Amino acid sequence: MDINSSNIEQIVRQVLDSMNGAPAGAPAASTKSVPAKARVAMLTSLEKFELKEYPIPEIGDDDILVKVEGCGVCGTDAHEFKRDPFGLIPVALGHEGTGEIVKMGKNVKKDSAGKPLNIGDKVVTCMIFKDNPDITMFDLNKQNVGGADVYGLLPDDDIHFNGWFSDYIVVRGGSTVFNVSDLDLDSRILIEPCAVLIHAVERAKTTGILRFNSRVVVQGCGPIGLICIAILRTMGIENIVAVDGEEKRLEFAKLMGATNTVNFKNHKGIEALAGAVEDAFGGYLADFAFQCTGSPVAHSNIYKFIRNGGGLCELGFFINGGDATINPHFDICSKEITTVGSWVYTLRDYATTFDFLKRAKGIGLPLGKLITHKYPLEEINEALVTNLKMEGLKIAIVNK
Ligand SMILES: [Zn+2]
Repeated sequence: MDINSSNIEQIVRQVLDSMNGAPAGAPAASTKSVPAKARVAMLTSLEKFELKEYPIPEIGDDDILVKVEGCGVCGTDAHEFKRDPFGLIPVALGHEGTGEIVKMGKNVKKDSAGKPLNIGDKVVTCMIFKDNPDITMFDLNKQNVGGADVYGLLPDDDIHFNGWFSDYIVVRGGSTVFNVSDLDLDSRILIEPCAVLIHAVERAKTTGILRFNSRVVVQGCGPIGLICIAILRTMGIENIVAVDGEEKRLEFAKLMGATNTVNFKNHKGIEALAGAVEDAFGGYLADFAFQCTGSPVAHSNIYKFIRNGGGLCELGFFINGGDATINPHFDICSKEITTVGSWVYTLRDYATTFDFLKRAKGIGLPLGKLITHKYPLEEINEALVTNLKMEGLKIAIVNK
């Protein structure tokens, strides 16, 4: 290349461009380029999403426009898809989503934890506290999210970009939003379900029974039980027995850190099953149990796995699954069992979850493998059908 003074200036300019990612001399970019219109997967009738295109609205001074990268499919989405129990149709679903900030109002400076927010940062939302705006993550509160409005469960309105099953989402001022740029996409998609388990383990710790190297039984190896095992491992608990009826899931439990597994289908009757759990611990019953299935029979059974003076965290019944039979004398009183229930999470648990995901990666737990299926937005109906068939573990929509 022939270098003269005029193209030296051009070369310097090019080098500066490549360093800044913006044309030299141009004002600092406050937004990334955003199309005029974008797609939203709108649930317009039972079992039918339609991809609708809407103009991207003006972003207010307190609002954030996020380009969606991906979103997990939750049991709640599947309930809505199948039955619309909350009467939300038409609705843009998807609340386990994450993406990149492409536009921000001038008043937006920090996330809900006080971390700076900038264009290009990766974020997740937690919920909108319309009903109780006083809850912040710095509150040492015991409140759950019941009654709050969640992106992905808001009825359609004139903004339309209200759910994470879309190309873009408009995060309104006052919403709970976190900068999670230091987590990879798979980890970010798993934040919401992981927060459910962080909360459950925090509840379990209130019993004072869960300690380093406690013997812990986890019953149910769907995503919830598997994440539970991973969290226990990151806490230094190494004596974990997983119970499930599917060999494939029990294999997965080992990947997540279970030391031993018991397939309940191989043992007839509760006495034999409890014996198998005892054998799996080398001749001891569990100090603590996590019940992660939605089966009332599983709740009845789990007391038999726990030693006298042990503890139980029941978290399997996110929705009403019916009544369970127990014997109060044998199962609770005479054994002096301490039980706690757990449901959803607090904002504090959300922040704890980010740290858990980093620790899990640090000790080599392949949490990302929980996402067994990834679909593009165009195939959202197939994604929901796969979820309903209970094939795989976590199903996710991943945008291109
Ligand atoms: Zn969810």
